[in-house]
Amino acid sequence: MSLFAPLNIVCRECETLITMDAVGSVNADRRPDFREDILHDSFQDVSCGNCGHALRLQPNFNYLDAGRGQWIAGLPANQVSQYIEVEDGVSLLFDQCYGSKAPKAARDVGDGLDVRLTFGWPAIREKILAREHGLDDVVLEMLKLDLLRRMPEAPLAEGMELRMTSVTEDRLSFAWMETASEAIEQEMSADRVLYDDIAANRDEWSKISARLTDGPFVDIQKIYLGEPRAA
Ligand SMILES: [Zn+2]
Repeated sequence: MSLFAPLNIVCRECETLITMDAVGSVNADRRPDFREDILHDSFQDVSCGNCGHALRLQPNFNYLDAGRGQWIAGLPANQVSQYIEVEDGVSLLFDQCYGSKAPKAARDVGDGLDVRLTFGWPAIREKILAREHGLDDVVLEMLKLDLLRRMPEAPLAEGMELRMTSVTEDRLSFAWMETASEAIEQEMSADRVLYDDIAANRDEWSKISARLTDGPFVDIQKIYLGEPRAA
């Protein structure tokens, strides 16, 4: 089931009260339209009834797609700096819903799910897009590191993130975007062969891979966000 709760927000432009349905959980098996909306950047959009100002709630929900084996805790962008604590909370929540602390029937569903944590819209959209195209998100993050090494002028900074935005047969497109506004600062694309090379040589990446997968936040941002979790 997909769950919503009414939420009151105040229009930034004209201070009119807007009531919208804030999503708490998305079941993409039953509501594939919600998945499509996330991919099209139109999920949890609302416009002010008075002045027409468009706004978008930050994600704060659990996303389940049992058919594609995805479970994602999609959280607001501004929580990324506390990612280790958030990872622990998300792992516990998953355990209670589909893992070791859940009833047998739920565990059977959970066995087929990859558990992920994302912050902000571009990140959750990217996870869904990668799965749609059969791309391993761990390899994808390693590819980003590889690309960063090749581009010394990369606009790497807090609040900026590199996200895959589209996929064709032979190219992966990326954008540097501002997390909060989703504004695109710079675009680039990579030959899919680069991805395939990393996928075929994962042994060489074992250290990075271990760091990326030490919790459900599988994202190169964790490498730039200070000390790793204690071993
Ligand atoms: Zn307004």
